[in-house]
Amino acid sequence: MHIIKRFRAALPYSMVGGALLALAMSWHAPLRNILLWWGVLICWQCLYLQCIRHCLNAATGAGLAPRQFHGFVLMTTLAGIWWGSTVWWLVPDGDPLYLIVVMLWLAAVAASYAAYLTGIRSLPLLVLGLMLLTVLPRLWIADSPVLHLAGLSVLLFTVVLISMTWPLHRYLRENYAAREENNRLLQDMTAQQETLDQYNQQLEQRGRELDIALARVETLVAHDPLTGVLSRRAIMIQAEHRLVEAAAGKAFCLAMLDLDHFKSINDGYGHLVGDEVLRQVCRLVGAQMRCNDSLGRYGGEEFMLLLEGMNLEAAMLRLENIREDIARHDWSGLLGARGVTVSMGLMLWQPGMDLPQLIKRADDLLYAAKRAGRNQVLTEALARQLVRGLV
Ligand code: GH3
Ligand code: MG
Ligand code: MG
Repeated sequence: MHIIKRFRAALPYSMVGGALLALAMSWHAPLRNILLWWGVLICWQCLYLQCIRHCLNAATGAGLAPRQFHGFVLMTTLAGIWWGSTVWWLVPDGDPLYLIVVMLWLAAVAASYAAYLTGIRSLPLLVLGLMLLTVLPRLWIADSPVLHLAGLSVLLFTVVLISMTWPLHRYLRENYAAREENNRLLQDMTAQQETLDQYNQQLEQRGRELDIALARVETLVAHDPLTGVLSRRAIMIQAEHRLVEAAAGKAFCLAMLDLDHFKSINDGYGHLVGDEVLRQVCRLVGAQMRCNDSLGRYGGEEFMLLLEGMNLEAAMLRLENIREDIARHDWSGLLGARGVTVSMGLMLWQPGMDLPQLIKRADDLLYAAKRAGRNQVLTEALARQLVRGLV
């Protein structure tokens, strides 16, 4: 391919060369011969250009099709013969001086053929051989020792030219083959890279979808499906965090909340109504929560509240509000004349307390509140007063 492109670029110069040679011979050779030789050369070169253009158009990524290449070889060898025939057309009288001038010209043409065809192993050999076969008889029949000597020189020149360019051909051929192999590998690699990019994009897309699905699953796992508050697992994780923060000086309170006589609601109004009561209680508690507070379903109709950074009095006040909100809420739509109350046990975290201890003590207070008549919030201080009969 490279060679053919180089040839296309060089051909117009050979036309000019032919014209110059014709001009140089114009005062020696018969005009008819000159015109004929030059005319054929021009036509031939035009045809040659057409053939090359056709070859290049028909060339695929893999190179030239064998048919095109054979056409190019044929045109090249015929061109070699025509150049060789110059000695017959332009020096019909065998004048040694003119013959030598033409010979020099042909030597230049031969050298440029050898140079342009480097890379195609046997084609320059064929062209030069045919040129030589056309030229040598003309020198031989000239019957002049000088021309015989010139013929011998031409032979020698051609042999030297071929022997010098031969290794170069091999080297260039290997070079072209390696370059073509490289191109092919590069194309393969690009195609593979594109496929890999596509896979990567698909993978990234799947990854994003998976992240979204995972976030959904995490939300589902972290929340109680009935009430929408945190699940037991999630509220316990939150409580562990609070404990770590508390150790660093951030106080928090933990409360356990349980619905009073909830079983009788289920028994009297059915589980669906019971479910709705649970939902509404959670909504009422949630309305009193602040952004750093947490509410989770600890189990059944028992809930855990984490109130951040509060002293016991402030927390007590908030829980009392919650208790009153629930007790005063209008439950008539769901339960008729019956109301809903909750009991709570409230603990302020104290240094050295772990989570099970904190929960156990809040739970104990909750059940003390139940025993004390329900619908109330108990702290340890209040529980002690209760024991002493002060409340
Ligand atoms: P106490 O005042 O002593 O807490 O009495 P209680 O009836 O509330 O307590 P108990 O432990 O006897 O009954 C709790 C009931 O809560 C039993 C169970 O069927 C009901 N329960 C637990 N989870 C759910 C739920 O998700 N939906 C409904 N509708 N009922 C539930
Ligand atoms: Mg209960
Ligand atoms: Mg209970």
